[in-house]
Order: sequence, then structure tokens, then C-alpha cells
Amino acid sequence: MPLHVSTHPLVAHKLAILRDRTTEPKKFRELVRELTWLLGYEAMADLATRPEPIETPLQQMTAARLEPKVGLIPILRAGLGMVDAMLELLPTAEVWHIGLYRDERTLKPVEYYNKLPDAASVQVCLVLDPMLATGGSAAATIDILKQWGAARVKQVSLIAAPEGMATLSAAHPDVDIHVAAMDSHLNERGYIVPGLGDAGDRQFGTFAGPASEPGHGPDEETAEVVRRLQLNLGD
Ligand code: URA
Repeated sequence: MPLHVSTHPLVAHKLAILRDRTTEPKKFRELVRELTWLLGYEAMADLATRPEPIETPLQQMTAARLEPKVGLIPILRAGLGMVDAMLELLPTAEVWHIGLYRDERTLKPVEYYNKLPDAASVQVCLVLDPMLATGGSAAATIDILKQWGAARVKQVSLIAAPEGMATLSAAHPDVDIHVAAMDSHLNERGYIVPGLGDAGDRQFGTFAGPASEPGHGPDEETAEVVRRLQLNLGD
């Protein structure tokens, strides 16, 4: 199974601070960036290189340059906080935005924003989403990227739920999934437990009060999706 859970102690340490409910948005954003840097480094460990002759101040040599063009696809909105770190690692990466929302009737992801050019302009796509929760948006985004012609896709998330991982690997068994941690389960509101709460709200400081907090008020539509995913996992 192409699941990679980081075992690096720095990742574990930073994740502990990220999860802590007292960590404020400024620090939270810094940690998302640092964790993305570390996970991105691991996720790109198998990218191909090509030999290239160069001249150092001392002599000629054959060096290695990265071969594939890489695209970054942040899942809106929480994935946006992972883009800068990836661009630090790979300044020439292209950033493509795909917007999806969940249709209330069918509960399926519907595309509302997509400016991908007709033909794929990159060979490797990294889908960025801090939380791999139900896996619905990730699977739908990767459908779009594969139809576009992306030869290789990897998912980079900070925390995954078993339900999201199962959905994504069933839909796209070839996609490598890189995470800092695999948590216990989704609650009836679709939050990862123990998780870290809402990754978008915690990055962008958009706390709308108790009703929007992870422990509050079941949303029947989400609860239904979670129930279905958990039934599938139990098969
Ligand atoms: N999205 C989040 O931000 N947090 C979760 O726990 C699940 C989905």
C-alpha cells in the first residue's frame, strides 16, 4: 500500500504543537509550513533526475538535475497554507487551483473552479491538503488530474483518517499518500479524531463561535457520509 507515515522525530514534535488547542494561528501557520517542508522532502525522495554536465570552480563533472516538471494542487482552502513551503523546495513548480464543493443532494464533490490548460503541463502532481478526512475531495481532484494527463500523482497531508485513506487508495491505488500521522477515526461531523480541529479556521483565524467547533451540532449530511465510510471500512 503506497501509504507513507513519517517516522521523523522532528515531524512528531512539530505535529504535537500543531495539534495543541492553545497554539495560535500565527504559530499554527508556521508549523504547517515547516511540516509541509519536511513531508515534501520525503514525498519527493523518488523523483527522477537526469545527468547534466557542469563546471565547478575546480573541474567539470556530471551533476544530477530534477527531471519531471512538478505541479502543486492545493485543495481549497486549507491546502493554501502548504503551497509556500513546497515552492521553497521547488521554486519552478506550477501551482494549479481546483475548487470543489459537496452537492447537498448527491453528497458528491462538484467542481466550481478549474483553470487547468488543455494538455498536462507537468508530469508529477502533488495534491496538498492538511487533513485527509473523508477522502472525497482528494479522490475527485485526482480524477480530474488524471483525466488532464498527469502521469504521476502524490497526496501530501499532515493528518489522515483511516476512512479517507481507504477511500483514496480504493479510488486511486497508484497514488502515494504521505502523511505525518494516521489518526483514529472521523467523528459524525467529519472531523479527524484526535486531529487538530479545523485546519482552515486554525490557519486563517476564522472562528465563528461554538457552533462551528469540532464537537458541536451534528450535520446530518456529513454524518451520513461518515456512516457510509465507516460501514465500508468494517467490510
Ligand atoms: N478538515 C479539517 O480541517 N479538520 C478535520 O478534522 C477534518 C477535515
